[in-house]
Amino acid sequence: MLKDVHIHLERGTYTKDWVMKFVSQAQKKGLDEIYLLEHTHRFREFLPMYRHLYGTNGYFDSWLDGRGSQRLSDYLKLAEEMRKESFPVKVRWGLEVCYFPDWEEFIKRETQDLPLDFLTGSIHWIDGFGFDHKKELWEGKDTDQEYERYYELMEELIDSGLFTGLAHPDSIKCFGRESSRDLEETYGRLAGKLKEQGMYAEQSSGLFNNYGYAYRGMNPQMLAVFQREQVPIETASDAHCPEDVGKGIWEMAQKLEKQ
Ligand SMILES: [Zn+2]
Ligand SMILES: [Zn+2]
Repeated sequence: MLKDVHIHLERGTYTKDWVMKFVSQAQKKGLDEIYLLEHTHRFREFLPMYRHLYGTNGYFDSWLDGRGSQRLSDYLKLAEEMRKESFPVKVRWGLEVCYFPDWEEFIKRETQDLPLDFLTGSIHWIDGFGFDHKKELWEGKDTDQEYERYYELMEELIDSGLFTGLAHPDSIKCFGRESSRDLEETYGRLAGKLKEQGMYAEQSSGLFNNYGYAYRGMNPQMLAVFQREQVPIETASDAHCPEDVGKGIWEMAQKLEKQ
């Protein structure tokens, strides 16, 4: 059973034609199931959650100005219509939700009754630091401290009970910064919490595909801990265009099977 659980619809219109491009590529790649999603920051309904980021950095002010161009209701309508269609691969519908600890109530209110199949929780900001946007933003940052806070937030994300899955669980490595501390215990705590909440963790080729990172998936230590603790693991491409659907999925699935 080959799955790609993290595929962004963005860059196209909410039409069956656009969805078919993802489905066709999935079929070409031999996938059985795909999870389609959108970033919450694409929807104006979620913009209040991002306003606190204004003023943290000039770059983010202009980035934020470009968000919220879509309506969630249009996305939901597409999902509803597409559910009536039959596709050669199973298609699930969801959201990639940015996690901010002060916004749990808001996220709960905005997502709890949505007719969606899954919610992927993501850490994209560490107390206002958008670590995965540009390498230069890391200048002057203490890598160990950022790692510590990143995983603290991830524990809170999991504890919140708001999400089905955890996106790219070590994406903080995106620009090659590595913690000098041993994170075995941290990974163990994350694993325990993921199991407690019944969440899956992504084995994601996103950093390899989108950032040119050296290898696909979690760092070997995290993967070993998650596998030892029997955390459910799902393969994901973090595709942002139809051509990237399934990219690296087969390779990651093979490797997971062998371990
Ligand atoms: Zn993400
Ligand atoms: Zn994503």
